[in-house]
Amino acid sequence: MSEDSLLDHALVRLDDAARHLNIDPDVIEKLKFARETTKARLMIRMDDGSRKSFLAWRCRYDDTRGPTKGGIRFHPSSTIDEVETLAFWMTFKCAVMNLPYGGGKGAVQVDPRQLSKAELERLARAYIQAFARTIGPDRDIPAPDVYTNAMIMGWMADEYAQIVGQAEPAVITGKPIALGGSLGRNDATARGGYYLVRHLAGELGLGDDMRVAVQGFGNAGQFIARLLAGDGHKIVAVSDSEGAVFAPNGLDVGALLSAKASGKSVLSTVGSNGHEAIAADALIGVDCDLLVPAALENMIHEDNAAEVKARIILELANGPVTSEADAILEKRGVVVLPDILANAGGVTVSYFEWVQNRQGFYWPLEEIHDRLRAIMEREGRAIWGVSKDKDVSMRTAAYVHALSRLAEAIEAHGTQS
Ligand code: GLU
Repeated sequence: MSEDSLLDHALVRLDDAARHLNIDPDVIEKLKFARETTKARLMIRMDDGSRKSFLAWRCRYDDTRGPTKGGIRFHPSSTIDEVETLAFWMTFKCAVMNLPYGGGKGAVQVDPRQLSKAELERLARAYIQAFARTIGPDRDIPAPDVYTNAMIMGWMADEYAQIVGQAEPAVITGKPIALGGSLGRNDATARGGYYLVRHLAGELGLGDDMRVAVQGFGNAGQFIARLLAGDGHKIVAVSDSEGAVFAPNGLDVGALLSAKASGKSVLSTVGSNGHEAIAADALIGVDCDLLVPAALENMIHEDNAAEVKARIILELANGPVTSEADAILEKRGVVVLPDILANAGGVTVSYFEWVQNRQGFYWPLEEIHDRLRAIMEREGRAIWGVSKDKDVSMRTAAYVHALSRLAEAIEAHGTQS
């Protein structure tokens, strides 16, 4: 990748989409910049009595279509550029799915694996103290992202309730069920991608016995492996931050999940069930039908895109394929199911959680699954249609689909907004 910011790279996709629509330049100008990004330094007391400070941000990128929505990431290499880019992607993701939200995102620059549980709780509460005036159930609604989870959302919801003096569950999604979380939120990101692949399998030429490689074995990676293995597909390779494992005849997904549940790397399964260790970078080039990047941004780039053997890429991570890699993959006939569609199951079930919180009426799991499936199929089918009609990639089609909704809303707000 060149020296440009991550946001500059992301905006290439907006320009590509704009070429296929007759869009007022005012719309593009509005979508090129984050509306507001707040920075804070979170000071917490460590268990040993010392004080430590962490940089944190919350970005409300665009709220044309509703309150801003997006997760909070805890990661040592998070930056303001990354947060704004992730919030830009959320803006388009919510528009792709026709959710009544704009896009937002937050982050704390921290390696949460170095913190004790008590320190993590203090950090989560400090985040809400810093951004309590930015967030709100009708203003900006956080959720989990990389290295954050339901437990952290529970602490955050509790801190917000203490600050405003009343329970306000709709301020944050991805909460524990006991605090107003939704059934089906935990596997929603992977399940959305799974429904999409199942629905378009015929068009994509995918059969009943796919070979699948999964990069990143966190929430999304673990659940997609479980869902696809459950249908009889072979998970041939998976990786986590410590390394990758490979088994040409299929990994033992149960063994991988129990290793992760007990806090171990996937590498701890090497030597049993025919699992071999491979270099983490080699996962991208493993012989498979479906490659699922489910870790961080920029994993498939101009220097490794030519190694991809899969015919289909399902982007469960945000931004795993650079725009340079997109061009290489497209030329080679690899179909990329883009992040703003492929991983939108998470925010869609977050939306269901917010609706249930506001109604005070909770839905059974089958209803969550049925509604999620219906939306994934509806929007996935529409984007497939745009891609065929305009003869563009699924990524450009998804951006065209979202941009036409955003443009309509921006214009409807009037000229003074
Ligand atoms: N962090 C997830 C994403 O990138 C979920 C966001 C949400 O549920 O608001 O889509």
